Amino acid sequence: MAIATVNPATGEELKRFEALDREQIDEKIERAVGAFRGWRETPVQERCRLMARAAEVLEERAEEFGRLITTEMGKPLAAAVAEVRKSARGCRYYAQNAARFLADEEVELEGARAFVRYQPLGPVLAVMPWNFPFWQVFRFAAPALTAGNVGLLKHASNVPQSALAIEEVFRQAGFPEGVFQTLLIGASQVRDVISDPRVRAATLTGSTPAGRDVGGEAGRNIKPSVLELGGSDPFIVMPSADLDRALDTAVTSRTLNNGQSCINAKRIIVHRQIAEEFTRRFVEKMASLKVGDPMDETTDMGPLAMPSILEGVDEQVRRSVEAGAKVLTGGKPLDGPGYFYPPTVLAEIPEGAPAREEEIFGPVASLFTARDIDEAIRLANETPFGLGSSAWTNDPEEQERFVDEIEAGMVYINRLVESTPEVPFGGVKSSGYGRELSHFGIREFVNVKTVWID
Ligand code: NDP
Repeated sequence: MAIATVNPATGEELKRFEALDREQIDEKIERAVGAFRGWRETPVQERCRLMARAAEVLEERAEEFGRLITTEMGKPLAAAVAEVRKSARGCRYYAQNAARFLADEEVELEGARAFVRYQPLGPVLAVMPWNFPFWQVFRFAAPALTAGNVGLLKHASNVPQSALAIEEVFRQAGFPEGVFQTLLIGASQVRDVISDPRVRAATLTGSTPAGRDVGGEAGRNIKPSVLELGGSDPFIVMPSADLDRALDTAVTSRTLNNGQSCINAKRIIVHRQIAEEFTRRFVEKMASLKVGDPMDETTDMGPLAMPSILEGVDEQVRRSVEAGAKVLTGGKPLDGPGYFYPPTVLAEIPEGAPAREEEIFGPVASLFTARDIDEAIRLANETPFGLGSSAWTNDPEEQERFVDEIEAGMVYINRLVESTPEVPFGGVKSSGYGRELSHFGIREFVNVKTVWID
């Protein structure tokens, strides 16, 4: 895949880059090693001061970076600007909390002193996706860098200018040279970087196959890794729920980011008592969304990011319909130029159909009706994924059952699933392992050193 900016709203290639060769990669890794020596000795307060400065740079340049994001991957401009501001919030959160998260932890022992010290590991490779080109990177970089690690970013090949802009944010904020570097390389060059002895850990946000490769290579080299992979989040609505809020949130959650988020509500499971009304109103709302130019502020949904994503969604919907699923709205790509797909709702989806078993990375909602809470939970847990989940009920016993029985890294009750700095983010099953954000996130790439002094 070429490393290039192609506007997904028009299909026009705007800028192309050469991939780094072996020698250039080697130089950058060497620079990272050199930078680490100084950075790990830099007091955490100073690292945090620079991270707070990075937050300011992001806020000052939010409009400019928002336009770049929309140009490279097609989300509506307001959402792109909001993503940059959220990245600033992530930086500020670790600027304010990293020292506390990394402080020595005393262990109570009789007759001796013991404590835990958190120390950085060194250069960490981050393989990142295009769907939140800023936020995904900062949610790795803010904790990793304040902990004293240095970062090497291999960003998705369709967002190279975002990748370079992020490097520039750290430079402008005053981070020492080499603490955060972008490597413009293709996916096939990742393995060599992970196996390089100077690189100490890896993290990937992306698809399950990519996760298998990156996690496998890290494992072969005995290096820690964090994997944030796909999801097929359930969104369950029970009779006691506030139906208006549940409906609005279901539509938002399925179409957010043009339907290309790992935590979009992909399978909507509705109790049969309210299924008829929910379905009618959900389909109406989905069909009324405005699809078009993501730079136009009246647009609800822009294009899909790449032709391969559009083809994938189209193929999954076609196979689901062939298997017996009914299309309630949408169901076919829109005319180009640009990679547009309409909000789509599928129902009566049989076992084995892609819309039931796979992740669909586009604005396609799979609707299911459940007889009771047992069936709702069974449907929620039937996929290989286990990232987020959202359950809508005002019955405390039902809430407790969803919290306890849904197989997912996150259960949100009466709320949209979000990734936000204060709470851990990550999944179970094929959605990956490890956690980002909160104090859990900053402890993924540290040496948890036991110290015992007699
Ligand atoms: P990919 O997994 O193909 O791409 C993500 C990143 O991994 C890119 O930087 C890509 O590089 C790189 N990559 C791809 N294959 C390999 C490999 N074999 N070895 C090393 N690196 C690799 O994602 P898609 O573009 O297909 O995006 C859609 C998928 O990603 C969906 O399944 C979605 O759920 C998942 N995803 C999960 C998220 C989460 O937070 N859990 C967030 C976003 C997406 P290159 O671009 O050069 O191919």
